[in-house]
Amino acid sequence: MNINEIIELDKKYYANTFGSRVPVCFKSGNGIKLISSEGKEYVDLFAGVAVSALGHSHPTLVKAITEQAGKLLHCSNYYYVEKQGELAELLANNSFADRVFFTNSGAEANEAAIKLARGYFSKQSINKFEFISLNKSFHGRTLATVAATGTLKYQAPFAPMPSGFIKVDANNFEQLEAAATPTVCAIILETVMGEGGVIPLTTEYLQKVRKLCDEKNILLIIDEVQTGLGRTGKLFSYDHHNIKPDIMTLAKALGGGFPIGAMLASEKVSLGFEPGDHGTTYGGGPLACAASFAAVSEIINSDLTSNAATVGTFAMEAFNAISVEFPAIKAVRGQGLMIGIELDGVSASDVKTLCFEKGYLVGIAGGNTLRLLPPLIVTKKDIQDFIPVIKSVLKELGGVVK
Ligand code: PLP
Repeated sequence: MNINEIIELDKKYYANTFGSRVPVCFKSGNGIKLISSEGKEYVDLFAGVAVSALGHSHPTLVKAITEQAGKLLHCSNYYYVEKQGELAELLANNSFADRVFFTNSGAEANEAAIKLARGYFSKQSINKFEFISLNKSFHGRTLATVAATGTLKYQAPFAPMPSGFIKVDANNFEQLEAAATPTVCAIILETVMGEGGVIPLTTEYLQKVRKLCDEKNILLIIDEVQTGLGRTGKLFSYDHHNIKPDIMTLAKALGGGFPIGAMLASEKVSLGFEPGDHGTTYGGGPLACAASFAAVSEIINSDLTSNAATVGTFAMEAFNAISVEFPAIKAVRGQGLMIGIELDGVSASDVKTLCFEKGYLVGIAGGNTLRLLPPLIVTKKDIQDFIPVIKSVLKELGGVVK
């Protein structure tokens, strides 16, 4: 099929959720390059929203998936799954956590975290059931995770929301402290709010949040679905701030492109679930765990985390340097390879479109922000090659040279 036929089929049969998409269909990929159905090459600086951490068609990941697919795809969690235990051990050994529960997506991982937090207190007969989350946060599309999400437009059509979710502004500790009443069981946050506009929380704020949680017997859930597994220049973003969560959620890079999520907890908190309290048909199946074990091992063994730190710093310096020439660049924010370029007077969506026409895939986030989430294998040279592209796009759109 050519691209027009593909688009027609989508328009006729696909659910009315994604609307008019970027008019391209990718047929293959290699490293940070993708090839479209029309044979055009694109440089991927978005990694399918932070998923393809190893780039495309990474041989280690392809081998792990192919070998496991030839042996066993699925068997159910009624039976033991060898790779599930190995992957849980790998994640526990490299994080604060003692126990891991696997899901199929980030939203499901957060859903599990929300249930675990309530279960942890209800098992002790303690009346704590409310959650505090941040305005502009994003935690998923299921009803509970949408209720935790701090963007009204995702909630409005589906009201009423499940109750018990309180919102406060990011980096405003006084507001958070005032909201932390005795019935609050957990605070859920992203250390860098991705969908909200790539907004980092400060170390001072996060350390105060941790202390508040300890003082008031509140659990800290860190949603590392987007920040996790090397993206910010540390394996987990909480490592930047010298704090530890009680519960952490992962997805996206966890499978390197194969769908898998995880909810990780300390031994003590994991006791909030007893056998039968929670479960999943697909989560943690043999294929997902084989893929994830290969992806996570590759991130650790090839030290892609350090690459994210080095290339991320280089990229942010480069974008800051061009902001001197281009007043349209209002701010450059982020951590590691999670980069937001906030624009003023030029639409981030138009920049995205023109970058696409020039063969570069970038994303957008809240507040007119261009969002870059390249594969963790991206090089300084790849970033250097992108600089003239974004400069010419900004010039074309009138974000003129100062
Ligand atoms: N949490 C964060 C921080 C996210 O960025 C996302 C997705 O963008 C999610 C949760 C939801 O993940 P999924 O789309 O896999 O359900």
